[in-house]
Amino acid sequence: MDDGSSQGRCARFVCDICGHTYRNLKALGDHKNKHKGLTVCPVCRRVLSNIPNLRMHLRSVHRLERDEIYRIIPPQDQIR
Ligand SMILES: [Zn+2]
Ligand SMILES: [Zn+2]
Repeated sequence: MDDGSSQGRCARFVCDICGHTYRNLKALGDHKNKHKGLTVCPVCRRVLSNIPNLRMHLRSVHRLERDEIYRIIPPQDQIR
């Protein structure tokens, strides 16, 4: 284990669309939302890297209320 190659053989999660690698499935899932167009700001069309960033963008840049944001971007765990 302790041979100095910390990143060599551990499981990596690779995006099959753009080839980016992530250290865990959740990060890859967040990233893939980008390819689905779920992280595009509906106001200014800017593409954010993931949904939490898009929510923060809507709040800080466009001054949207929390309720407003959740109506535009429903919480992921409530989508089935
Ligand atoms: Zn990708
Ligand atoms: Zn925007």
